[in-house]
Amino acid sequence: MTEIPDDHPRAASLRTRHRIEDGVEKGITSKQGLIAEGRGEAFDYLLGERTLPSADDAERAAAAQLLLADHAVLSVNGNVAALVPGEMVELAEATGADVEVNLFNRTDERMDAIADHLRDHGADEVKGLAADARIPGLDHERAKVDADGIGDADVVLVPLEDGDRAAALAEMGKTEIVVDLNPMSRSPRAAAIPVIDNVVRAIPRMTEHARDLAGASDDELERIVAEFDAEEALAAAERAIRTGGDE
Ligand code: ATP
Repeated sequence: MTEIPDDHPRAASLRTRHRIEDGVEKGITSKQGLIAEGRGEAFDYLLGERTLPSADDAERAAAAQLLLADHAVLSVNGNVAALVPGEMVELAEATGADVEVNLFNRTDERMDAIADHLRDHGADEVKGLAADARIPGLDHERAKVDADGIGDADVVLVPLEDGDRAAALAEMGKTEIVVDLNPMSRSPRAAAIPVIDNVVRAIPRMTEHARDLAGASDDELERIVAEFDAEEALAAAERAIRTGGDE
């Protein structure tokens, strides 16, 4: 991998891009994942490649929601595995959540490659390989989940999820947390907690919030979730894109 000097003005963005390229070479990320990365980079550029105050509020609400869950599952696709494998494992540990591999273009090879990659980054148990339950309303391959994973979960974190599946999961009554850089995309619009931020910034911040809230009472966690306004968070991100302001 080419060395990127720290003082390069877009160092973080270029490193992210290289991690996706490596993911494709390792068989973790799909070619469609490269296109998703390009789309994400465009929105991150417009957002100023920073975490907005409204996104940080969403990350705190997401951490509170994960801590309140009876059974939380963090969904990992090819881009997430390439960008934040260790960070997802840390978030799972900080919140007591399971990790499940969940792919748009599912192949056994890529499922195994991602599960191995997550284990290399410290995951004890990786779900998604059993595929013994279905999300209603989706075609066969995209509907597959684990019965004791996403199938059973009350709260799911789905970073960079496709719009149809995000809508179908919400339809199943799951409380959904979506991380996506595009506030106009259907997936964050289907979410109870949309997090408009880059997954490389959002996941470590959620973990920090979860650690910070580890001793909080359920009442306090419920208050943080109730005070979060999804519509306003989406509108704030859109305003930041249009005006360049701090929202
Ligand atoms: P939808 O079906 O929800 O309308 P879409 O067709 O726009 O979504 P895709 O191209 O399937 O979405 O997926 C890419 C999505 O993931 C984009 O919305 C993009 O902004 C987002 N994305 C890409 N990279 C990142 C990242 N690193 N962090 C957060 N979001 C990202």
